Amino acid sequence: MVSEIKLFVDAYSQYQASGLDKKKIKQTDILSLIKGLPPLFRVEEIGQSFEGRTLFGIRAGHGGVRVLAWSQMHGDESTATRSLFDAFRFLAADEAALSPYRDAILSKLSLLFVPMVNPDGAERWQRENAQGIDVNRDARRGATPEGRLLQTLCRTFAPHFALNLHDQNSYYSAGVSRHPATFSFQAAPPDNADTVTPTRAQAMKLIVHINRQLQQILPQHVGRWNNDYEPRAFGEWFQAQQVATMLIESGGYPCDEERLAVRRFHFGIIIETLYAIAAETYANRSVEDYYELPLNRENGMFDRIERHTEIRIGERAFISDVGFRGGEKVTGDLDDYGALC
Ligand SMILES: [Zn+2]
Repeated sequence: MVSEIKLFVDAYSQYQASGLDKKKIKQTDILSLIKGLPPLFRVEEIGQSFEGRTLFGIRAGHGGVRVLAWSQMHGDESTATRSLFDAFRFLAADEAALSPYRDAILSKLSLLFVPMVNPDGAERWQRENAQGIDVNRDARRGATPEGRLLQTLCRTFAPHFALNLHDQNSYYSAGVSRHPATFSFQAAPPDNADTVTPTRAQAMKLIVHINRQLQQILPQHVGRWNNDYEPRAFGEWFQAQQVATMLIESGGYPCDEERLAVRRFHFGIIIETLYAIAAETYANRSVEDYYELPLNRENGMFDRIERHTEIRIGERAFISDVGFRGGEKVTGDLDDYGALC
């Protein structure tokens, strides 16, 4: 089967939104893009951040299946914000070759995007909001206006699907391998018993569907988060409200400091996820295959590795690998570890 994600990724250059080529994206970088969105999109002010920045909701489509997608809940995680604006250009294009996908998405789905949930954090390039609270640990209390907005949208928009879009650090590897986890997925558990509810099963099947296609263009670069239950996080919270919720974490890719290659793949994942929901092409996947994704391994990657190099200490010499990660240096067997560049 052909990877539809590959079709989208191959066509990416005509959809790339301008001005988002760097990782550090603040709200001022997207305001003109929001203003310039074509009439296909309905832009609403749906809330305010703690410091009074407008939180924008961007709607498109008029189908019966509602999909809510938000990005940059952590202020320093911008990859998905950038690829959402690429996806908007795809949805508004009149190019013919991929129009069956575009038409299915817009006719079957009602979409609500909230790019940059945490603009105050983005302004400081920090994870937390202006109160110093991690919004993704605020799902129960709603102490942050940004978290309260997501709670409200769950009630008022009543999504069937939610896409929870984040970045993870580049040093995670996809299982025990030399490959970075360029993407990691999770269908978060709705409770401490790891229950597979019908809606969670939908999210798991979607992840299997996306992973099978990604393996064709990014073999062994996909991981998953474990099923540890974090009741304060929005993935768990939405899953518990019977919303099929999919976490997508953008991660490292070789020599891609600004995450431009990752953004391009992410664009393909977003379009394919929406299309798979619209056309229900994920529905025949099996929940059990969710576990074929290897677990993320923390610090499985280095910035650089010198392999089988001669090391001298005084008069004595030996052969070892040496890995460099940030300011850290590790000497020893790094056969199962990879280097980012
Ligand atoms: Zn995050």
